[in-house]
Amino acid sequence: MLSHVSGLACVRCGKVYRAGAHFTCPDCGPDEGILDVRYDLERAAETLTRRSLRRRSRSQWRYRELLPLDETHCPRDGLVGWSPLIDTPRLAQVLGVGRLRLKDDTRNPSGSFKDRASAVGVLHALQTGASEIACASTGNAASSLACCAAAAGLHANIFVSRRIPEGKLAQLLAYGARVFRVDGSYADAYALSTQACARFGWYNRNCAVNPYLVEGKKTCGLEIAEQCADDPPDWVVCSVGDGCSIAGVYKGLAEMKALGVVAWTAHLLGVQAAGVAPLAAEFEHAADRHAAFPAKHASDTYADSINVPVPRNRRKALDAVRASDGAFVTVTDEQIMEAVRQAGSLAGVFAEPAAAAAVAGIAEARTRGILDEHASVVAIITGNGLKDIAGALRAVGVPHDISPRIRDISRIVAGGA
Ligand SMILES: *Cc1c(COP(=O)(O)O)cnc(C)c1O
Repeated sequence: MLSHVSGLACVRCGKVYRAGAHFTCPDCGPDEGILDVRYDLERAAETLTRRSLRRRSRSQWRYRELLPLDETHCPRDGLVGWSPLIDTPRLAQVLGVGRLRLKDDTRNPSGSFKDRASAVGVLHALQTGASEIACASTGNAASSLACCAAAAGLHANIFVSRRIPEGKLAQLLAYGARVFRVDGSYADAYALSTQACARFGWYNRNCAVNPYLVEGKKTCGLEIAEQCADDPPDWVVCSVGDGCSIAGVYKGLAEMKALGVVAWTAHLLGVQAAGVAPLAAEFEHAADRHAAFPAKHASDTYADSINVPVPRNRRKALDAVRASDGAFVTVTDEQIMEAVRQAGSLAGVFAEPAAAAAVAGIAEARTRGILDEHASVVAIITGNGLKDIAGALRAVGVPHDISPRIRDISRIVAGGA
């Protein structure tokens, strides 16, 4: 029996399709006609309650009623999700907010938030009878897909651009994926992967066009709602590239409220890198909801995971931030590097640049008066710093090079460095 999915609605025209009919809306096309999975929430509310949740697995599979998987394909237990929420009073103080909790998604199997989506994608692919799966990625979606595919015994075909950091490339190869390193941008890799899926019949994991993947990302929002049930944050902060993550997080928060598990939702703060900020710009200019697909934007940031000049899930992301009465901010590479140091040294969390951007966004939102000094904030740490060592080293400085003599140490200690 299928899960509680009631249909898939086009985010542009609103038309509802039955599950399995299409990946994107045939009327609105693959760029604009992104579909959103809808559930029978009344039926889900019968079994998904605060009480029943207490007995379930500490993974994202605890929310089976809200996932697009049937009984035989939805695991009872697993390693993805249910990441810890870490209270960080020192970081909160330095950033000037009342309270800050970090949702540490670096602890997923391949080290990023993307595992939530890939795990659902791989199982959904198996459910539809696929034997090969493919995606284009700035890095994490790829390493995550390769990891989950290897665990499930599916072949993974991965399209990356030449700019992929070495740590992520090493993960791909270690997980045994077939890696196509495209001599071009992420946009080129994306277009090629779509063509290849059509040509070779591979299951397409690309997050925007595949509506089921956002359902995996949604579990982060479901978890935040559950973990903060009686102590809600005012704001949830998430860095934004394609926009699937923030859209999923919002959906998770909203569904938990609709089910009556919690009585609140939070404002969403989307953070983009100043050098690549098409969604922040569009939000700022309050563009018409039915405006055309955006023109090419600049693409310059060292936070590779959010270096996305043509965001594939633009409408879902903008709708989510608007519906939450939220905001967007942009942060410079210098602010991101500072946030890498702050998250590491004040909270013990080693974030990759795109993940640290969320922390940088809190400081920026304080400066701009979006957050006040009492604000209670949850920031999602979306990826592990070990994935991009070169990027991290640019932010964190150099060690003390010394000869093997205590004298050298004395000199440095005395100097207070
Ligand atoms: C993919 C990613 C994001 C942004 O998610 P989108 O769905 O592209 O907006 C943020 N941080 C990290 C580490 C990521 O890998």
